[in-house]
Amino acid sequence: MNHYIDQFNQPIYFIFFGIVFTVITLGTVITQAKDWKKLREKMVSEQMIARDINNPEVLKVMGEVPRHLFVPKDIQKYAYSDRALPIGEGQTISQPYIVALMSQILDLKPGMKVLEIGTGSGYQSAVLSALGGKTYSIEIITKLAQQAKGSLKKLKYPVEVKNADGYYGWEAYAPFDRIIITAAANHIPRPLLDQLKPGGKLILPLGNTRFYQTLTLVQLKENGKTDVSYYSQVRFVPMTGEIQK
Ligand code: SAH
Repeated sequence: MNHYIDQFNQPIYFIFFGIVFTVITLGTVITQAKDWKKLREKMVSEQMIARDINNPEVLKVMGEVPRHLFVPKDIQKYAYSDRALPIGEGQTISQPYIVALMSQILDLKPGMKVLEIGTGSGYQSAVLSALGGKTYSIEIITKLAQQAKGSLKKLKYPVEVKNADGYYGWEAYAPFDRIIITAAANHIPRPLLDQLKPGGKLILPLGNTRFYQTLTLVQLKENGKTDVSYYSQVRFVPMTGEIQK
């Protein structure tokens, strides 16, 4: 017995098993990363290209941003499926297609300043940031704001997150080239329109907050008038706070 124990105590065995362990662990991590990438590619071709997402930048970014790292661990395996998912506190991360569609309609160009209302998991913020937007995002639920801040920082997306009621916008960084509201609203908060640059665009799910809403794009013209266009029917969690008073 002692003979074997002595043998295994020799440094060479520790080094050997150390190397084997490292190789296996690294191998597993690399294989998993490849699997996630494959799932993202499948998501882009089946849920986006097959529908009406054709903006090359949006498609590229949707293929890159690791959505599984923005959802709770126990449901990571559904991260790339065609559906919204729960993120805690009764809130949801939007279906990937809707994130892509809103990003495409928003027509964000690199270097533009963009404000998001409803940070949630931080995934849509990461997409906006990866599209080159200087991204600011407001979340009303403290726990979600903190979690999203953590995820974005860890993944090195330079997004400013604030825990507040997004109804009032973010005066300190206004005006914005683009504003995206990712919670259902029955009207457009006046302060947000006031913080939009002339020529800017604002997108939101507008309508009855208990049922379905219409994806709506508001373009603020240079003369201060607005042009409104309507897109598909969507279903978002309601915007809370001042808007419900
Ligand atoms: N864009 C998110 C998903 C949004 S879910 C993502 O990519 O994960 C809608 C979010 O809006 C929820 O987290 C909800 O708490 C938040 N919200 C609701 N009302 C708000 C308000 N008045 N101001 C800021 N955030 C709000």
